Amino acid sequence: MSTQLNEHYLSLPSGGNAEQGKYLEFQREVRQFVEQNCPEDIREKVRNGEKVTRSVYSRWQKILYKRGWAAPGWPQEHGGAGWDLRQRMIFEEAVADFDCPPLYHHGLGHIGPVIMHFGTPAQKEKYLPRILDTSDWWCQGYSEPNSGSDLASLQTHAQRDGAHYVVNGQKIWTSHGHEANVIYLLVRTSREPKKQEGISLLLVDMDTPGITVKPIETVDGWHHVNEVFFDDVQVPAERLVGEEGKGWQCAKYLLERERLPPASVAQLVRQWRRVSHLLWQGQQENGNSHDYAALNQQMFILAAQIKGAREMLAGAIDDMMQKKPLGAKPSALKLRCSLVAQALTEVALRVVGTTSSQQFMTAEGGPTETGLWLQNYLFTRSKTIAGGTTEVQRNVVARELLGA
Ligand SMILES: Cc1cc2nc3c(=O)[nH]c(=O)nc-3n(C[C@H](O)[C@H](O)[C@H](O)COP(=O)(O)OP(=O)(O)OC[C@H]3O[C@@H](n4cnc5c(N)ncnc54)[C@H](O)[C@@H]3O)c2cc1C
Repeated sequence: MSTQLNEHYLSLPSGGNAEQGKYLEFQREVRQFVEQNCPEDIREKVRNGEKVTRSVYSRWQKILYKRGWAAPGWPQEHGGAGWDLRQRMIFEEAVADFDCPPLYHHGLGHIGPVIMHFGTPAQKEKYLPRILDTSDWWCQGYSEPNSGSDLASLQTHAQRDGAHYVVNGQKIWTSHGHEANVIYLLVRTSREPKKQEGISLLLVDMDTPGITVKPIETVDGWHHVNEVFFDDVQVPAERLVGEEGKGWQCAKYLLERERLPPASVAQLVRQWRRVSHLLWQGQQENGNSHDYAALNQQMFILAAQIKGAREMLAGAIDDMMQKKPLGAKPSALKLRCSLVAQALTEVALRVVGTTSSQQFMTAEGGPTETGLWLQNYLFTRSKTIAGGTTEVQRNVVARELLGA
């Protein structure tokens, strides 16, 4: 099967050859570095579709840190690479092409930029270098058992008591909460008629007395999400980010900055190639059957959808660089990327289901190749929930298109 997904569909700027040359030179440099410096054992894990944990993410980030590339989107004054959005897309594509893990987003993509924008000088000095060199590993304390899509209804409460806030309540679905040493936490510091007001953002050490992390067992068998409980947790008042009661502004800033998913689109291309190879192997082993014809057809449709997503992403990047509004593009992209990710693992599961003896675990207790595809299939079910559900994204798109 051949498609043109191996090509790099960057809509290069219209600034003439000199500017195009700059991006192509940058692409060569980045691809060479990534290929030569990401350790083979890490690449093998990613290639096999294994779960990537903190130790693996940090080893890769430390390598990038030494090169000055740990934080592609951060300004150089804060230790970032200072790249523009198009350079970041080139970087994400190189990382995905060579089977390296994407950058861990909670510190670099989420709370880091919020601290840069709203934090005190002391907060910047304390936290930003520790995100870059991986000393701190952040998790996100937003969702609660009754506040997910309607996040502003959150109930976890923080009461000011002298030099501290005292936090009580519960967060849920906290990704990497068991690996993180710090959490950025949305809490209610007062009750106001408008629910978006009276919310504050706190930076909390996970080893503070009164915090309990409980794993949530998910169908894929991987441990990635948790419940986090807060019982009279004392947080120093200087850990408040921005103004008390104005935390919703920080939350919105965070979500707006990270609305475009260059990493997700790049990872889809890699995943498409893996599934495509799996399908080809299956056909070699079992010959052609009508099943394979249908799966091949589905892969062509998915290739077209991925190509469409890349085009939309490149267009949105152009818009952002020209400071034009993005409208519903990020939601449309998120929708497309999650559905394609799910569909790819469905194809993979149908292939391994017809070519293996259905062994999910090895004698040593690890997953077999089939077991890993099954885990990936089950894991990708969460893609249409995490970070905004499909229904919520569709609402955004409908409102934009229909003015509803
Ligand atoms: C794997 C995974 C990792 C996550 N990681 C984190 C994390 O690290 N930190 C964190 O804070 N949260 C995290 N979350 C939580 C995630 O953000 C929420 O699950 C998500 O926002 C949906 O909220 P909910 O689960 O409460 O569902 P609800 O909001 O209760 O939604 C239930 C159903 O109702 C639908 N619905 C809700 N509102 C509307 C509406 N207005 N119109 C139409 N339909 C609607 C939804 O689409 C859904 O089908 C994670 C979730 C998952 C699955």
